[in-house]
Amino acid sequence: AKSQGKARYEVFDRRMHAAAVRRLQIETDLRRAVANGELRLAYQPVVRLDTGRIVGFEALVRWEHPEHGTILPGDFIPVAEETGQIVQIGRWVMDEACRVLAGWQLSAPRGDAPLTMAVNVSANQFLQTDIVDQVDQCLRKHGLPPGSVMLEITESLLIDKAEVVAETLRALRALGVQLHLDDFGTGYSSLAYLERFPIDVVKIDRSFVHGMQDEPRRARFVAGIAAFARSLGVGVVAEGVDSPAQPALLRDLGCQYAQGYLFARPLPAEDAERLLGADCIA
Ligand code: C2E
Ligand code: CA
Ligand code: CA
Ligand code: CA
Repeated sequence: AKSQGKARYEVFDRRMHAAAVRRLQIETDLRRAVANGELRLAYQPVVRLDTGRIVGFEALVRWEHPEHGTILPGDFIPVAEETGQIVQIGRWVMDEACRVLAGWQLSAPRGDAPLTMAVNVSANQFLQTDIVDQVDQCLRKHGLPPGSVMLEITESLLIDKAEVVAETLRALRALGVQLHLDDFGTGYSSLAYLERFPIDVVKIDRSFVHGMQDEPRRARFVAGIAAFARSLGVGVVAEGVDSPAQPALLRDLGCQYAQGYLFARPLPAEDAERLLGADCIA
């Protein structure tokens, strides 16, 4: 039994070692990723449920690694957050997303509200940069109407340093930038944050949307969030919409916007721009 236990530890050690090596490799390679132009953005449309029209996009970062191919954000953003590389990556993402949006707004002017772009900002990135100044400069540089840029933050940002964070959020809002609370419903005190912070829109996490058409309890949960948000004047986006049964159901439950594989996967800029030509995609 003793030798068996030892063998098990060795397997565990080797796995830990492999994970550590992989992490170190990501960290080293990531250092040149921005400089070498290895990052790119994919764009997923956000659809208005009553008209079926695209109102904007969410920018999602990808890393085209020269040897390993496409790496998804879940595999490098956490590392970048720990090492501080997220600051440089975040700066690139913000600039690129704004540059692309400005081009789309010019080529596809709309009578109603301007096309929007949502950018994810992780907690360390938010806390380690002068985000207000960065966003302000980006808007000016690309000549964007401030209301067309949205920042997606998560509850983890709101847990600590609440005073400083609330002040920064108010400054961003004063610029005209909209604030979205991502993965809503998955944290510990989602409802309390809505009361305490200036949030414009909540994005209902896809774990509540997935399969909701067959799970009455899950649908009630979505309905509750939507009703609560509406009573506070906060908008609602449903994430992870992947079934044809969901758009009508979500609309009836009070969600205004939706995003998910049913409409489109995150797309390269050219494909996203082509989608914009369609009158209605839902
Ligand atoms: P998120 O902000 O919740 O982004 C939504 C994720 O759900 C994306 O994964 C998207 O591809 C995926 N998704 C969209 N529709 C569906 C669907 O119908 N079904 C399913 N199963 N999944 C769907 P992705 O691109 O891998 O991004 C993962 C996370 O990485 C994001 O979660 C976000 O937290 C983070 N992230 C992405 N880009 C950036 C960035 O530029 N900066 C920062 N700080 N974080 C980012
Ligand atoms: Ca997001
Ligand atoms: Ca999300
Ligand atoms: Ca997420």
